[in-house]
Amino acid sequence: MPDSVMQQQWSTSHLSGGNASYVEELYELYLHDPNSVADEWRSYFQKLPQAGSNSGSDVSHSTVREHFQLLASGRRRPQTTATGQVSSAHEKKQVDVLRLIQAYRMRGHQAATLDPLGLWKRPEIVDLNLSDYGLTDADLDTPFRTGELFIGKEEATLADILDALKSTYCSTYGAEYMHIVDSTQRRWFQQRLESVRGKPQHSAESRRHLLERLSAAEGLEKYLGTKYPGTKRFGVEGGESLIPMLDEIIQRSGSYGIQEVVLGMAHRGRLNVLVNILGKNPRDLFDEFEGKKNDSLSSGDVKYHQGFSSNVMTSGGEVHLALAFNPSHLEIVSPVVEGSVRARQDRRKDTSGDKVLPIGIHGDAAFAGQGVVMETFQMSQTRAYKTGGTIHIIVNNQVGFTTSRQEDARSTEYCTDVAKMIQAPIFHVNGDDPEAVLFVTQLAVDYRMQFKRDVVIDLVCYRRRGHNEADEPSGTQPLMYEKIAKHPTTREIYAERLIAEGVLDEEAVLTKVEDYRTALDNGQHVVKSLVKEPDTGSFVDWAPYLGHKWTARHDTRFDLKTLQELANRLNTVPDGLVVQRQVGKIVEDRRKMAAGALALNWGFAETMAYATLLHEGHPVRITGQDVGRGTFSHRHAVLHNQKDGVPYIPLANLSESQPRFDIYDSLLSEEAVLAFEYGYATTTPNALVIWEAQFGDFANGAQVVFDQFISSGEHKWGRLCGLTMLLPHGYEGQGPEHSSARLERYLQLCAEHNMQVCVPTTPAQVYHMLRRQVIRPLRKPLIALTPKSLLRHKLAISSLEDLAEGSFQAVIPEIDAIDPKKVDRVIMCSGKVYYDLLEKRRNEGQENIAIVRIEQLYPFPEDDLFEVLSAYKNLKHVVWCQEEPMNQGAWYCSQHHMRRVIAQLKPKNLHLQYAGREASAAPACGYPSLHAEQQDKLLQDAFTVE
Ligand code: AMP
Repeated sequence: MPDSVMQQQWSTSHLSGGNASYVEELYELYLHDPNSVADEWRSYFQKLPQAGSNSGSDVSHSTVREHFQLLASGRRRPQTTATGQVSSAHEKKQVDVLRLIQAYRMRGHQAATLDPLGLWKRPEIVDLNLSDYGLTDADLDTPFRTGELFIGKEEATLADILDALKSTYCSTYGAEYMHIVDSTQRRWFQQRLESVRGKPQHSAESRRHLLERLSAAEGLEKYLGTKYPGTKRFGVEGGESLIPMLDEIIQRSGSYGIQEVVLGMAHRGRLNVLVNILGKNPRDLFDEFEGKKNDSLSSGDVKYHQGFSSNVMTSGGEVHLALAFNPSHLEIVSPVVEGSVRARQDRRKDTSGDKVLPIGIHGDAAFAGQGVVMETFQMSQTRAYKTGGTIHIIVNNQVGFTTSRQEDARSTEYCTDVAKMIQAPIFHVNGDDPEAVLFVTQLAVDYRMQFKRDVVIDLVCYRRRGHNEADEPSGTQPLMYEKIAKHPTTREIYAERLIAEGVLDEEAVLTKVEDYRTALDNGQHVVKSLVKEPDTGSFVDWAPYLGHKWTARHDTRFDLKTLQELANRLNTVPDGLVVQRQVGKIVEDRRKMAAGALALNWGFAETMAYATLLHEGHPVRITGQDVGRGTFSHRHAVLHNQKDGVPYIPLANLSESQPRFDIYDSLLSEEAVLAFEYGYATTTPNALVIWEAQFGDFANGAQVVFDQFISSGEHKWGRLCGLTMLLPHGYEGQGPEHSSARLERYLQLCAEHNMQVCVPTTPAQVYHMLRRQVIRPLRKPLIALTPKSLLRHKLAISSLEDLAEGSFQAVIPEIDAIDPKKVDRVIMCSGKVYYDLLEKRRNEGQENIAIVRIEQLYPFPEDDLFEVLSAYKNLKHVVWCQEEPMNQGAWYCSQHHMRRVIAQLKPKNLHLQYAGREASAAPACGYPSLHAEQQDKLLQDAFTVE
């Protein structure tokens, strides 16, 4: 076996770390008699390096192997048992017992009682049978060493060991942690789980509190069910343990010093979480049931998508809670929550996740089914997106709408298996055992706080009603619902248990139920820890950004001298930093640009937008695929030292007191990454937050984020968002997939001034557009179609004065000195085609044609366009020219604006004409020759169409 493979095996298999002693035992047996161990072990041991051989390996888990070498050389370790020699039958059984212990750790969860309904049919786990190890009942009274079993004894009878294993690993919860490679973490779990043997002790007070929270969870649903029968509320019934679980997470994380918790969840149980966890006033919820509208929102949203914020008191101090608004698209809120958490952590300079905690509440079917879950997990430890670990809760009611648990909903044993991709520990817990729920919850919080990694709790429960309260579930799940009809509630089961154990009496149980109902009747808050006058410093003040129109005044000019100083600072490469040759040329050119010796290009102007905003105190965050360099190599915001590969980020080193400048190449995801940035931007109003697509069309992998959040979040939920999306766009013969950013998609989503769609064509335009995005108090998403070849186009240049003095122009009039009186044709266009038109006109010397650029397609600048066009009194033709096919680009979505403007012009009977590609199924053709032909024709059409 090659050494690297060995190394891999040691570090990733269950042979390393805590299993070492077991393997040692096997190895001793093998040394004594190679035939006494299973074939696979024999062949494994045969391949181990022999004593004295020099493998040169630096295997990190090398202790066992070194020990093997010692053993092989005949120098034995002292025996730790008094029971005799390796050769004895007892010693062989001892090894088998250790194997059995390992089997329970790995597979005990498969024999745990997880389903409250008792309907799961799980195959027998032969690995857990004594007979599988050659052990029998006759061995039960024999004492064996317990190895590393944390049960407080070095030696115990097999019966005791078995009892400890069963109660630890096969009770009403099951723990999956043996897939974690890091032995410290595995041992942590072993210690925590085995030391209580599955029977954690909870104080009477905390048990009464558990019942009180369950009474609240059940009480709210009953109340709503009676008051508003048949109205959709996606009740938590069957999964009531979610409420005490969340309560515990918040309280316990508060005791660790967590100051903010952001939750994301789908509709199931949301109303219960709003009222019983976040402390939303039940009166407000009832108003919503009774049809009350929020008049400040033009769309609004259903009550089970609503977010909420509040502060609650914990033993560690006040904790700010925020439940994210959520569309029906399950799971997409998860990366939004992560982005919001990261923004809060950045604001608090919390680099390790000690102050802000994300909680994701998922449905079982969605968690197993939606790809964004995997994307979000993949982000969890990356530089750009990590948040110090998320606590995931699966409300596993075993049905996805009407789709049954295993046969159709997934191919994996558990709905949580995807979490193993990042080696997250997973607890499956029977929702009808609230104390087991409490125990795994505490473990999950402790693990997250100690290791700063994701952890998953699979709350196995059921859904007492249909998908919603108007839905009859027995048509599709007859047996399950027959069982549910007879099944007592979690509260009833637990109340009975507490009464039986003398923790409280029947009257006290009843009082809890009645007190809760009375509070609802009175429309009172039902969260005792709610802080009535929250510390406003615990969240961002959005007041400065509210109530502005898109025409709000702003000034994006910047002092020329300071601009040059900033540029010089950026372009001064620190001593010892060896930049690559082409990069060195870019830096050199930028120095000349700063000195006014060279016209400014795109990369310079864009960089100066960031530098000037940073100088003015605005943080900047840019992520996306390859953003450090830029897909088309224009940005070079990160310089890589050619000597040692260490990156240097000039924009992060402008001054000691500057705000954050973060730039990260993203993982190759669009959906989760864009959702994350949406979450970040909706939490950080004073920053420029940018997501850049590698090619514009790749944004279609994130379509749900545009549809459900970016374009409509403000109108559904009143959540402003200043996120900027840079989408490279341009027809340059690269084929159907790398030409179009699908401008039409965004324009079609535009209404009610919900977002901005811009197509800047000069360096100064991108500079002022980016600055405007932050300097103007308005917070609206900005979709910017950015260029590819224009990044280096000889005509796409600006001057230092253009940056220092200008502003973003929604419409750019004709730039050549053409006499307006001679103009009888105006060509309007956006983007790169402008330069093709300009060159053609200059080459042909046509003085009757003016070319006008529309740089902002939404909100459409009708007034600006009117002003520009009204200079031409002798117009005969007004043409819209685009590179995109007729069914794409701006034509269909923007023509009514242009027509409206044309109708107001003095020359009458003007008709808007079209010059562009024919309607096409694909965005662009794949053949360069056909592309060129089409391009020539559309330019020609623009000049001649009548
Ligand atoms: P949060 O910390 O997300 O709960 O936000 C605290 C408060 O800030 C909310 O209750 C809102 O009033 C306000 N707020 C937060 N985010 C936004 C946003 N994107 N747009 C407008 N107001 C917001």
